[in-house]
Amino acid sequence: MQALTTSERDGLANMLRERKQMMRDEIREGLAKMRAEGHEDVLAGTPDAGDEGLAMLVTEVTNAEVARDAAELRDILAAEARIASGRYAICIDCEEPIPYARLAAYPTAKRCIGCQEIHEAARGRARPA
Ligand SMILES: [Zn+2]
Repeated sequence: MQALTTSERDGLANMLRERKQMMRDEIREGLAKMRAEGHEDVLAGTPDAGDEGLAMLVTEVTNAEVARDAAELRDILAAEARIASGRYAICIDCEEPIPYARLAAYPTAKRCIGCQEIHEAARGRARPA
């Protein structure tokens, strides 16, 4: 069953491609920043915190941003693989078509809204989008 028209699918594929490029750039920048910063610049305004603790904090924050971008990049690559295999826009749980409106807002969606809610409830936490 195909939920999308060809032009809808092509438009979403374009969105994914642009987003993929953005994530690649952000990950590269994040990694370059981590290497370049040395984590010393943030210490000036916070004399009470231990140097090592602050350096670790910055490293963790930057890593979290990079990790989040990397996770999104993986989602995008998986969505592109589903497009290539003809499984895009089909819920991986119930195999019903995922509505275009949901994909337009969230092109890497792999579940319909109903299954996504069940999935998130099962994991005990909600994810944005
Ligand atoms: Zn579903």
